[in-house]
Amino acid sequence: MFRSLHMKLTMILLLLITSLMVVIAAFLTTSVSSFYIDTFYQQINAVFSEENEDFYSSLCREAAQADGAERVQAMLEANAGLLGIDYRTRNYYVLDSSGNYLNGSATLENGLLPHGTTANLLIAQNGSVGDESSITDDYMDVAIPIVSESGSLLSIIYILDNRTTVSALNDQLFLIIMQALLVGLLISLLLSFLLSKAMVGPIEKLTAGAERVAAGDFDSELPVESTDEIGILTGTFNEMAEVLQQTLAAVESERNKLDTLFLHMTDGVVAFDHDGQLIHANPAAKEMLGQTLDEDCCYNDLFAHLFPFEQMLALHRSNHTEAEMRAGDRILELYLAPFADLESGGVLTVIHDATEQHRNEERRKEFVANVSHELRTPLTNVRSYAETLRDAEGDLPPDMSNSFLDIIINETDRMTHIVQDLLTLSRLDTGNTEILLTRFPFRDAIESVFRANAMAAQRHNQELTCHIEDELPLIAGDRSRLEQVMTNIIGNAIKYTPNGGHIAIRAGTTEDRVWMEVSDDGIGIPEKDRSRIFDRFYRVDKARSRESGGTGLGLSIAKEIVDRHHGTIGLAPHEGPGTTVRLELPIAQVVM
Ligand code: ADP
Repeated sequence: MFRSLHMKLTMILLLLITSLMVVIAAFLTTSVSSFYIDTFYQQINAVFSEENEDFYSSLCREAAQADGAERVQAMLEANAGLLGIDYRTRNYYVLDSSGNYLNGSATLENGLLPHGTTANLLIAQNGSVGDESSITDDYMDVAIPIVSESGSLLSIIYILDNRTTVSALNDQLFLIIMQALLVGLLISLLLSFLLSKAMVGPIEKLTAGAERVAAGDFDSELPVESTDEIGILTGTFNEMAEVLQQTLAAVESERNKLDTLFLHMTDGVVAFDHDGQLIHANPAAKEMLGQTLDEDCCYNDLFAHLFPFEQMLALHRSNHTEAEMRAGDRILELYLAPFADLESGGVLTVIHDATEQHRNEERRKEFVANVSHELRTPLTNVRSYAETLRDAEGDLPPDMSNSFLDIIINETDRMTHIVQDLLTLSRLDTGNTEILLTRFPFRDAIESVFRANAMAAQRHNQELTCHIEDELPLIAGDRSRLEQVMTNIIGNAIKYTPNGGHIAIRAGTTEDRVWMEVSDDGIGIPEKDRSRIFDRFYRVDKARSRESGGTGLGLSIAKEIVDRHHGTIGLAPHEGPGTTVRLELPIAQVVM
């Protein structure tokens, strides 16, 4: 409360009035005392002055008589009015040369003077006039020596004033000053109230406005009511609030942009303060590191094994360091960089999930190795049979030469087959394969593939059946590509089912999809290989596949085609020996 401007103003005014009054009181009382002392000595001097020498000479002569004391008293009585003797506050005493009381205007108790032997009295005893008084004393006196013609001290006239008058006057003055002080205090209270209304009011409004701005309310502009300093301050405050609002809006928008960026970016971002404590982690970082990353988490828990935190902070701001780490199944690439200075900065970590990149790299290497291997085997065969034919120089029996030539032609066909499949895959990969969209009955496509494979199944003495639900809808897609997929699935079933086996084709619809399943009771696919049979060149039994003319690319091509149609192809759960492959395609086909 005492800190408010209003209170301070009141206190200042009160102090001002009080100190003014104290000064006046001190000045007045001192002046009154001095005046009284001066008047006292002027009165005495007027009687005993050199101009009035006759009076003093007469006193000396009278004092020399036998009844000198009475004579002196009579002369003093005659001049009592001039000396201001009032017999109450001021009296005279006639003393002998030793200072003993002879007579006077007042009697003495026990023959002692009220203030004893004063300094002035001592001076008079030494033959000089004692007329010194201080305003701090509670009396004033004068002692005049009366000397004979021979110069010996006859008696002393001692005039003593007890200053009751001046004390009463001072008391009166003090009372007046106290009353004036009271009135002054009341006036200062009133003035401080009015002043605070005039001065503190606008400041209070400004304070309230500043509090609203501090609370985030920038809408209410403060009215500028005067042109004085407060008015200028209010105007400046309004401008400041506007600039602050614009700056905050810009900062907010930047922050929103950054927040959205951090939220949706696929790379992880983790920031630590200069103590290594986590300050920010986006959802991608949490997912990649597989941790909740709460506030208690720190740099050392996560990345200390890659690069010590202190060394990170010591790095120059333009530098960064890279590292790679594993988190579960993921391979993560990390870019670590310090930000700002040592006191207020920290370390920023950007995490990139390189798992897919690494996997692709692995696949690429594996693919190149597979292609090389797949082509090298038939090439070796072609070369060795061709060399044998050349070295024999026509010595081989014709049927053997013909069988060698058949092998060479078969191996060349096989290579052509592989190269064609690779080309198809490459075109599908690069998106260069044209998909010819038409609307056609799903049933017709299945029945056409069924008929085309019936002969092959018959050759292997296999029972090939086809059961299609009624009212299969039209689908939109590339019919010949989809028939290629179906042919591959049914062809595999024929290839990997022993003679005399059973192959069943079934088809139907679900809510928004058509499906086709091809089940056989053939050799089946072991559990460990089920997830990989759609990989390029992957074959469960390489020898068997090659024997039957397989390249290991059929199902990967099928998967690419089905993917382009936004469908799915996979192995369905299968009871007993054999395999079931399920193909699903959307009815309402989206543009590809
Ligand atoms: P391939 O030309 O070797 O048949 P695919 O890509 O068509 O190549 O098939 C990949 C592998 O999946 C085959 O080598 C085979 O081991 C396995 N496979 C595919 N279909 C069947 C099936 N119906 N029964 C058993 N194994 C199958």
